[in-house]
Amino acid sequence: MGINPELIPIKNGPEMYTGEGYGLTQIEKVIGLARANSIWPLPFATSCCGIEFMATMAATYDLGRFGAERLSFSPRQADLLMVMGTIAKKMGPVLRQVYIQMAEPKWVIAVGACASSGGIFDTYSVLQGIDKVIPVDVYVPGCPPPPEAILDGILKIQDLIKQEPIRRRESPQYKELLASYDIQ
Ligand code: SF4
Repeated sequence: MGINPELIPIKNGPEMYTGEGYGLTQIEKVIGLARANSIWPLPFATSCCGIEFMATMAATYDLGRFGAERLSFSPRQADLLMVMGTIAKKMGPVLRQVYIQMAEPKWVIAVGACASSGGIFDTYSVLQGIDKVIPVDVYVPGCPPPPEAILDGILKIQDLIKQEPIRRRESPQYKELLASYDIQ
């Protein structure tokens, strides 16, 4: 009897070639699926958007449903940097250092207007977007973005992770991207 896909309840799982007693897929799709559903976020929260993130973690929205409930406050054990709040220019080098300390593969979400573009603080002391100091994968709009928008950002990151080629991090394009931020 072949594998019945309805008996394998992997939501948005990888495409499989199934037959009598077996299922075949690509290893990078399986790795992508595992990575996407076991994200360890590092919340870098400096102001009000951080409060929305707290709501996203709490019972009603429950980020744990997406396999991302294990927060890490150490960059060494995190693979998703979530930047939430106003980042002063003085804080820029600290944020960059946290990013550099994270191991590959890693992803970044800019949550809210301040992290994405400086928001309403178009002033001498505020970084006009964290992408001035580190590469960003997903931008979540809003001031503040509600938990639904933050969850949408997580879903977008999961899509990126699932589709990421296994060797992307060794590619010349990725090295070029890091070099443009003066990161080795
Ligand atoms: S985007 Fe708005 S809510 Fe978020 S940190 Fe900036 S001012 Fe606060």
